[in-house]
Amino acid sequence: MDIGIVGCAGRMGRMVAAQILATDGCTLAGGTEQPGSEFLGADIAELAGASASGVAIGDDAGIMFAAVDAVIDFTAPAATVVHAALAAEHGTVLVAGTTGLDADQQRAIEEAAAKVAIIQAANMSVGITLALGLTKQMASILGPDYDIEIVEMHHRHKVDAPSGTALALGRAAAEGRGVDLDAVSERVRDGHTGARTAGDIGFATLRGGDVVGEHSVIFAADGERIEITHKATSRTIFSRGAVRAALWAEGKAPGIYTMRDVLGLD
Ligand code: NAD
Repeated sequence: MDIGIVGCAGRMGRMVAAQILATDGCTLAGGTEQPGSEFLGADIAELAGASASGVAIGDDAGIMFAAVDAVIDFTAPAATVVHAALAAEHGTVLVAGTTGLDADQQRAIEEAAAKVAIIQAANMSVGITLALGLTKQMASILGPDYDIEIVEMHHRHKVDAPSGTALALGRAAAEGRGVDLDAVSERVRDGHTGARTAGDIGFATLRGGDVVGEHSVIFAADGERIEITHKATSRTIFSRGAVRAALWAEGKAPGIYTMRDVLGLD
């Protein structure tokens, strides 16, 4: 499979390039950056820390979408909307990892997916995808006697809390219980809080050092505690998942797919 990368000089773009080079069955076939980028013309593989591939970074995404089988996108919301339209126009699979799309932008992605397969996930990690599925299943089976608490830790530079993944785990737990997370989430505890409210889903946030990302979902009942923990030590988990998604999508019918589909969980 010939795979191109939009935003190939970005943090994730470089990791995706390295992952494609290391994966059997796919070829690093192109890469783009924004017009005016200092990286235009640079060798895409060299930028990813590998030996030169002879593929230069361009700024015309249309030409690349027409030439490759799949494109992986970790860029920015407005750019991803443009890339989804190009994917639909050229029948090119799109793996969309960009986060933070608003409702209009998300609608545009879904419109494009009427014409081509688009795999979209806010977290492309195989381990987190499984943790989300297990959390929903456990919340459903264990029932309300088990208090649910979600603890996450990230590096000292992270600006939002709780993390998007912690909230996704909370939503998975709430779905398993058949409740709305907004109605039951307890995001801050401080001072004389009183006893825990039954049915709450609590969050606790730790920040420090260079921690890539750690999440635990704790189910605590009288007499036992069950925990699901995921520890990321490298962002390669996202690029690995994205390349796996691109390879999976070959020949798939148009539509929006998630990492759950890629792993065969649905
Ligand atoms: P980054 O800023 O390092 O990289 C983004 C790159 O996209 C930059 O090089 C930028 O120049 C380029 N870009 C922007 N607009 C473009 C356009 N129109 N054409 C071509 N290139 C363009 O950011 P990052 O850390 O790599 O993250 C990128 C996105 O991926 C963010 O939304 C982030 O939240 C998301 N992300 C998702 C996952 C996941 O698993 N889904 C994992 C990590 C990051």
